[in-house]
Amino acid sequence: MEFTVLTIFPDMFQALLGHGIIRKAISLKKINVTILNIRDFAPGPHRVTDDTPYGGGCGMVMKPEPLASAIREAKHRACGSKTILLTPQGRVFTQDIARSLLTFDGLILVCGRYEGVDERIRSDFVDFEISIGDYVLTGGELAAMVIIDAVTRLIPGTLGGADSAGKDSFSDYLIEHAHYTKPRTFEGQSVPEMLLSGHHQEIEKWRLESSLIRTFLKRKDLLERRALSRQEIDILKKWRFELENIIHSQSVRSPDTLSGSQ
Ligand code: SAM
Repeated sequence: MEFTVLTIFPDMFQALLGHGIIRKAISLKKINVTILNIRDFAPGPHRVTDDTPYGGGCGMVMKPEPLASAIREAKHRACGSKTILLTPQGRVFTQDIARSLLTFDGLILVCGRYEGVDERIRSDFVDFEISIGDYVLTGGELAAMVIIDAVTRLIPGTLGGADSAGKDSFSDYLIEHAHYTKPRTFEGQSVPEMLLSGHHQEIEKWRLESSLIRTFLKRKDLLERRALSRQEIDILKKWRFELENIIHSQSVRSPDTLSGSQ
């Protein structure tokens, strides 16, 4: 995957590119990241990339000419790439979108600053607009890094474990199960016995149940979208049975509780 980032702050990307999985993905040639400084495409001795807005108002707007030249150069270097504008007005980034971006040969990530980019860039040069959430950042650089990171770890062979990404939260609308490592007891809390049992099938069952309960408690919306397996339906039925027993025992103990009268 070929990433080309257009930014006026190229140094910000050293932190991402020089560490961990992203650094490894670059050395394995799973990804290539080119950072283009938008200032290099601005004419004049001061390399100005922003100007005041037509119609007045506060803040500055990124000028169209340097951005257009930078996007053209990026497309020339990595033809077949799709151009993404990072903007809080875009579609909110999700794991599904990360997966769909993997199908392209390359991504050109345009990082805005100030009040954003001139509208003519948005309308004529951009394939997709992506937001990383409903809040406003000072620039698109962090959003571009989020996309590079999330997409890269989906590329086969990038992560350590053969199928680590397949088990992550959001793959197939489930949140991942709980994880534990050494020590066996930490501040009075022990690792669940099942994980120490060595019974791989039972451990897988425990993990599935852990995933299901976490998804139900934290993100019920995901569970509603999941195509549940027979085994998962059986687990949910078991919970229903157990919950009904608890409710029933309450009504036996105190019949008023269920009738609502105190
Ligand atoms: N005035 C713009 C608006 O209300 O839509 C916000 C501009 S913001 C201060 C400057 C730049 O940060 C944007 O052009 C965009 O590139 C980036 N940015 C801010 N929030 C973002 C978000 N949630 N997702 C992606 N990019 C964001």
